Amino acid sequence: MPQDKPADAAERLSVRPVICYESDKLPPIDVGAMQASFARAKTVERVIVPARDAACFEVPAGAFFRILNPEGHQVGDLNLWARDDINERFYSGKTRQLQASHVTVGDHLWSNLPYLNPLATVVDDSLAWYGIDEYGGSVHDVIGTRCDPYTNFRLRGEDYDNCCHSNLTRALASHLGLAAEDAELHVHDVINVFMCTGFTPDTHQYFMKATPARAGDSISFYAHKALLGGLSACPGGNCGSSHSDDATPCFPLVVEILAAELPLSLVPDERLNGRYSGGHGLR
Ligand SMILES: [Zn+2]
Repeated sequence: MPQDKPADAAERLSVRPVICYESDKLPPIDVGAMQASFARAKTVERVIVPARDAACFEVPAGAFFRILNPEGHQVGDLNLWARDDINERFYSGKTRQLQASHVTVGDHLWSNLPYLNPLATVVDDSLAWYGIDEYGGSVHDVIGTRCDPYTNFRLRGEDYDNCCHSNLTRALASHLGLAAEDAELHVHDVINVFMCTGFTPDTHQYFMKATPARAGDSISFYAHKALLGGLSACPGGNCGSSHSDDATPCFPLVVEILAAELPLSLVPDERLNGRYSGGHGLR
């Protein structure tokens, strides 16, 4: 039954919002120095991610990785772990609070608690021009998760084994020599590279629309520490109609690892260094 609005509803509704996390208070991270280094970096390895499949790749600390869309019209689901301890991994929730719902040049990708380190920083994005469209949509979101067989079964009662969750699980298991059941527990919410998403203005439901990515588009990252990445070329293809099925044309993605010419002398502030271990009495 609809509730009547209280007499002071207008007053309550008009309270002005404030930014929840003041990311401008973060110790400075020199993105300009990363971009200058990236401009001179050389490709040392290329990893092909086949359509409707995933692959893992490793990035040394201080190096870069570029995700290329050779054919365009393809979305990727990216997982990131600290290479030397995969319990530390990308944390989409805090990244969206500290940065934004969609990431672009200058945004940092943060790791889970209790680590909360910048794992990577976006140094180049050929779709930065897209901004926020008339539907409130934008690209490279950290609000969605990965398509998975469990949700698909709940919604449609069908088995589909090439969801990004399954692809990432198999790729991680193969890369680290783990059983699939063990690897699956390390697969986490993703950066939806090239995907165009937002929330509907009336019901705030998650929507997708066909990616604006075309052949040659790319997004590139600086690795703050040695990283293990997993990338799935989503079975949803351009994610303009469906996912979790073989209905949409799908294309491969490519990951390039680029070595810096000279090591960057990024001296992080002590607040961004290592693992904070105080403040709450738990250890
Ligand atoms: Zn997917």
